[in-house]
Amino acid sequence: MERTLSLIKPDGVAKNIIGEIIKRFETAGIKVVAMKKLHLSQKQAEGFYAVHKERPFFKSLTDFMTSGPIVAMVLEGDDVIAKNRKLMGATNFKNAEEGTIRRDYATDIEKNVVHGSDAPETAAFEIAYFFSTMEIVG
Ligand code: ATP
Ligand code: MG
Repeated sequence: MERTLSLIKPDGVAKNIIGEIIKRFETAGIKVVAMKKLHLSQKQAEGFYAVHKERPFFKSLTDFMTSGPIVAMVLEGDDVIAKNRKLMGATNFKNAEEGTIRRDYATDIEKNVVHGSDAPETAAFEIAYFFSTMEIVG
């Protein structure tokens, strides 16, 4: 069993597709073991995306991530990090496979609806960034 952090970004929440996204996870056999809606501060968004702080899009990305509420979830399942990334599709929705969340709903390379951890180490950091162990119910 593996765990990963999933975020529905402000554009996904604004599009009213929280349920649609969760449905895709559940249909794929993935379990939601923790969930909350929150509005990140600039500092919180910068901390979450610290790995990207030297990138040219960092300021724009953190502004976007603080532009409205998000939904954070811990997903659990076999190989869930890779499975979630596959359901999400490529970062740039133009390159995302047919039937993926980003292909269906993203409008921009930045406003791409969802985030998913990309490795076990980042998943551990990102889950702990949003949830305490008591909030995760497997
Ligand atoms: P995420 O980390 O959100 O799951 P990802 O792993 O597919 O997405 P990263 O390379 O980690 O992509 O980039 C993090 C986020 O930064 C992207 O999801 C996107 O919102 C934004 N981003 C990435 N590349 C660009 C870019 N060239 N221009 C603008 N924004 C970008
Ligand atoms: Mg990433």
